[in-house]
Formats: sequence, structure tokens, C-alpha cells
Amino acid sequence: MGTVMLGTEVAKAMKERLIQRTEALKERGTEPKLAILRVGARPDDLSYERGAKKRMELTGIGCQVTELPEDVSQRELEEALEALNRDPSVHGILVFRPLPGHLDEEPLKSLIDPVKDVDCLSPVNIAKVFSGDDSGYAPCTPEAVMEMLDHYGIDPKGKKVTVIGRSMVVGKPLAMLLLKRHATVTICHTRTEDLTGTCRAADILIAAAGKAKMVTAPMAGEGAVVVDVGINVDEDGHLCGDVDFEAVEPKASLISPVPRGVGSVTTSVLAAHVVRAAQAVCGKRKKE
Ligand code: NAD
Repeated sequence: MGTVMLGTEVAKAMKERLIQRTEALKERGTEPKLAILRVGARPDDLSYERGAKKRMELTGIGCQVTELPEDVSQRELEEALEALNRDPSVHGILVFRPLPGHLDEEPLKSLIDPVKDVDCLSPVNIAKVFSGDDSGYAPCTPEAVMEMLDHYGIDPKGKKVTVIGRSMVVGKPLAMLLLKRHATVTICHTRTEDLTGTCRAADILIAAAGKAKMVTAPMAGEGAVVVDVGINVDEDGHLCGDVDFEAVEPKASLISPVPRGVGSVTTSVLAAHVVRAAQAVCGKRKKE
């Protein structure tokens, strides 16, 4: 029977460390702050925003929301982003995506200040992730997976790791983070032949496909570590991951559930990025 890797436990441990860091910053006169830029009121965005606000509050980080109307123009959106870039009280910026259809995300990528880009929108930060330079900000979800592995003492070094999913938000950057930690990484996607065999061969199997319960028992090797990034709704309307938890759990040595898995760690990583961004500003000010 697999040990359940609870994201909620990981978040709890991270919280203690973050509080210490925010207190140290405040003693030096810096109040770390996240700015959220949201267009419209998509339920997914509002739900993530509530989680992010709560996490910032719990860790002593300020959080402000710029809400723009659904029909905002591209120019107004870009001006709002530039205002946050200029605001010295803001250390991290999170732009909710996808944007409404009439807006173009591309110009925002080069507009956002890379040093405030705490969820890896800027090509500068993407390039850093892909070149193994950890001075930037990786996307929060892949980093949350790494936090889960670290918390549960799983060193990916030398291990065969299979990642299902090749998106720029999860699969690809996660593969790069794992590679930096010396894992032997295989990325699977919709055109992969012998998905079952490739998954079963993995010491660590990470599912980020967005397909409810697609990882079944034959796809997990005996004693594998199984991390589920997927967030889906099953046929009964319940939240579920990409892994058929009941079927896979008996074969896994460790397995993360959905909910209370990776998703619970994402906002903690976001908070950690804001604190790091604030520390960078604070350090720079001290040198001047
Ligand atoms: P996406 O749709 O952009 O990418 C999915 C990837 O999975 C694609 O590369 C596709 O090739 C691959 N894929 C899809 N079906 C497959 C199949 N049957 N076999 C093999 N490969 C398959 O999705 P995304 O944005 O990368 O998100 C993936 C999942 O992670 C979603 O369920 C999403 O909700 C979830 N997610 C969770 C968090 C979190 O905080 N936990 C954050 C972001 C995304």
C-alpha cells in the first residue's frame, strides 16, 4: 500500500519557513507584496485567487488585485501591467490566463518585468528554466511537484522519471527541473507509442495530461512513486486527478491524491517566489 503524499503537509512545512523569511524582510523595512492582474471573473480564476490571497495572508505577504472588465482593451491591459511593473511596493505579478479571446497574451510576455514575473510568463524566465539557471522563476506547478518530492525524501537523481504531458505550463518545464536534478526523463504525450510500457518502466511517474483517471494500474510499476498533477471532474461531478487512485495506490510506494495533492502546494511556491523577489529588491537597496 502506498504512502499518501499530502500537498497540505508540504504547504504546512513551507508556511513556517516563509513566515520566518517575511518577518526578516519586514524587520529590514520591506513588506513583500503580490499583485494579481485579472480580466473578467472566470470561476477558475476566482477560485485560484481566493487560495492565493489566503496563502499570502497566512505567510505575511501583501496581496492586491487589479480587476479589469471582461471587455478591456489590449492597450488598457498593457497599461495596467506596466503600472504594476513600475510600482515599487509590488514584488511579484501574476497575470491570470487564459485571457478573453479578443486579447493577445504574447505582448504581455515581453512586457512583464522578469524580476517580478513570479509564475514564468516572460521568455527570460522560461529560458532560465530550460538552461538550468535557477536565478529566475519556474512556473509554480512544476516547482510544486519538486517540493512534493523533496518533502517526502524522493531524490530524482539517476531515477527513471516519466512525465505525461508536454505543455509549457507543466510537462516541459517540469522535465527541465527534473533534468537539473539529474533524473533520466521521458516526456509522453498524445502521440506516444506504448504509453503503458513507458509509464510502467518509471521509478517516478508524473501525470499532467488533464484526462480524468487515465493512469490505470497496468501503467504503474511495482513500488513506483506516482505524482498526480491533473485537476479534472469525474463522471459524478467530483474533483479527480489523472490517476485512478484506488487502482494505482496498491502498487505505488508513494502516491499523491487529488484534491489535497500538488494543487495545495502551488500557492506556497507562488508565495516563496514573491518572498525571493522581495529579498532581491531588499538586498539591492542595501548595497546602494
Ligand atoms: P494541457 O492540455 O495544456 O496539456 C496536456 C498535455 O498532456 C499535452 O501535452 C498532451 O499531449 C498530453 N496528453 C493529453 N492527453 C493525453 C493522453 N491521453 N496520453 C498522453 N498524453 C496526453 O494541460 P496543462 O495545462 O499542462 O495541465 C495538465 C493538467 O494539470 C490539467 O488537468 C490541469 O488542470 C492540471 N493543472 C494543475 C495545476 C495544479 O496546480 N495542480 C496547475 C496547472 C495545471
